[in-house]
Amino acid sequence: MVIRDSQDRYAEGWSEADYVGGHPVLDFINTVADTGKTRLSDKIGNWDAVRKWACGAGLLSKGELAAFMQDPSLDDDGELARLHRFREQAYEAMLGLADRADSGSQSVIRLEPSIRDAMGRGVFSGEGRRFRWQPDACSPRRWLDAIALRVEEFLRSEDVVRLRQCNRCTWFFVDRGRGAGRRWCDMRTCGNRAKAEAFRCR
Ligand SMILES: [Zn+2]
Repeated sequence: MVIRDSQDRYAEGWSEADYVGGHPVLDFINTVADTGKTRLSDKIGNWDAVRKWACGAGLLSKGELAAFMQDPSLDDDGELARLHRFREQAYEAMLGLADRADSGSQSVIRLEPSIRDAMGRGVFSGEGRRFRWQPDACSPRRWLDAIALRVEEFLRSEDVVRLRQCNRCTWFFVDRGRGAGRRWCDMRTCGNRAKAEAFRCR
């Protein structure tokens, strides 16, 4: 049953292991496959990959996701490049915040124009008593806006103080555990690789 659930939720090419950040924005920044501190192996090199990633990411509500999928012609190469640039900008900002010696404020401020633009195009609306900014699904900038609005939400949340970067790769996660703290994005990947290396060094 669990397998069927994950098949329903995660589109081809993506699995549970791609969504370990604890927030859609961190999972978005984590769309690189590098196992070290480089960010060269991109996993969202085309729109098909972005759309499939979004199916499991919780970035958009079901209704929003359906609206985004309706007119794929809005998503062109220019917007994809913009999305990549914003991902790396958000990466720099999170890096500053995760390294507690640096407040990260300068790199966070660089995200402001994109957040402001996204709010300008978006709608502030609520479901029940939960209010949030929703991107305009008819704008060519909708994917960037969706990410930028969630970045804004993340930066104002309590999760920021629990933001950590994996000791091995460039992935981020929210450390919600107690005690010594989580060191790896995922025990199944980086954690095991690090353990194996430590064993070889002995
Ligand atoms: Zn890692």
